[in-house]
Amino acid sequence: MDKQQEYVLRAIEERDIRFIRLWFTDVLGMLKSVAIAPAELESAFAEGIGFDGSAIEGLARVSEADMLARPDPSTFQLLPWRGDQRGTARMFCDILTPDGEPAAADSRNVLKRALAKASDLGFAYYTHPEVEFYLFETPQGPGAPLVPVDDAGYFDHVARGTAHDFRRAAIGLLESMGISVEYSHHEGGPGQNEIDLRYADALSTADNIMTFRTVVKEVALDQGIMASFMPKPLAGQPGSGMHTHVSLFEGDSNAFYDPAGRYGLSSTGRKFIAGLLRHSAEITAVTNQFVNSYKRLWGGGEAPSYVCWGHNNRSALVRVPMYKPNKGQSARVEYRGLDSAANPYLAYALLLAAGLKGIEEDYELPDEAEDVVWDLSDSERRALGIAPLPSNLQDALEIMQSSELVAETLGESVFEFFLRNKRQEWESYRAEVTPWEVTRYLRAL
Ligand code: GLU
Ligand code: MG
Ligand code: MG
Repeated sequence: MDKQQEYVLRAIEERDIRFIRLWFTDVLGMLKSVAIAPAELESAFAEGIGFDGSAIEGLARVSEADMLARPDPSTFQLLPWRGDQRGTARMFCDILTPDGEPAAADSRNVLKRALAKASDLGFAYYTHPEVEFYLFETPQGPGAPLVPVDDAGYFDHVARGTAHDFRRAAIGLLESMGISVEYSHHEGGPGQNEIDLRYADALSTADNIMTFRTVVKEVALDQGIMASFMPKPLAGQPGSGMHTHVSLFEGDSNAFYDPAGRYGLSSTGRKFIAGLLRHSAEITAVTNQFVNSYKRLWGGGEAPSYVCWGHNNRSALVRVPMYKPNKGQSARVEYRGLDSAANPYLAYALLLAAGLKGIEEDYELPDEAEDVVWDLSDSERRALGIAPLPSNLQDALEIMQSSELVAETLGESVFEFFLRNKRQEWESYRAEVTPWEVTRYLRAL
């Protein structure tokens, strides 16, 4: 038993913790949880806890159903909403096969593999997510109209507003779980909010995003409202993006920073952006994994629709934030494509792989976009070499299917499962007759 495991066992005894929840994430980014008694923990650390992998999306085929969940002691935290007395703690788990090997279909393992590759090249990978979500009154039954909790907009301060209290409660819980929050504010849509987590290594931020989603749902339930990370819950209002700022470090120094470079960006940074751009269409099925994700990408509200980069250009897919002299360590690039419902482990692994490819293959960075690219005509965009992102889930899957980069990064079993599952989603959607069609056509035709 190592030191961290011993620390966890001691903490459980000292704090009278009665339940330990073992958390892991399925291939579609849903959090899974099994509670064990403290007496089971020693063997969970040693061998893992067995479960039926075939019952979890994407984890195993029925014929190889047995899987083990082994808790990572460095992720041990008390769940503050379960109270101090006879409390509940959680740890994220790595998923193993029965012979103790990392399971190929474990999302966390996909990211760990990508991180190991970066580390072989001398890089540590940091991310900083800006998570947007909506708060609604609890709907009165299925199909009831969605009522946002307020009618406020970007940065609005709502006196005694629901969202204010909500953010305060959510941030309090996050911080008590060791997750630092940098900013929080009302976003552009009614009832829409954003909370930005402080940057950290990508594995921790991916874990933190999973915790964040749970915390936000818990606080909403507590306040009698409903929170949703659906990418585009309201037509005509902004969708919920999960813009992510990424950077690479070589030892203590930020590899994206060069004071002599344009916008303080090093050639490594430029190549990384070039990689993100060149592979963005291939990774979109993962960064935007639902039918509804494309309603966000193509529904305005400042979501990116075209593949280009810019300096402080919010219409660009990749934005290089304002350069602050003397703050070289904070050099980073913002990928604005991701939405709030993405599986953060898979999405972060793919952003990293795309950027590293740009570095390894010396990709040339195209010119930056200086215009608001949404306002240009198709032919103007074509003349500038600016391509659209995939327009729907089916197109995105088509492009992903022939991507070596995605197949290699996700590994065969996640890649195959993902394509199969998402094609089914598309087919099920395609077979629907939507309220929009009925309203538009029924009487008129
Ligand atoms: N909600 C917008 C999106 O879907 C982003 C707004 C912003 O710039 O923060 O990406
Ligand atoms: Mg925002
Ligand atoms: Mg942003």
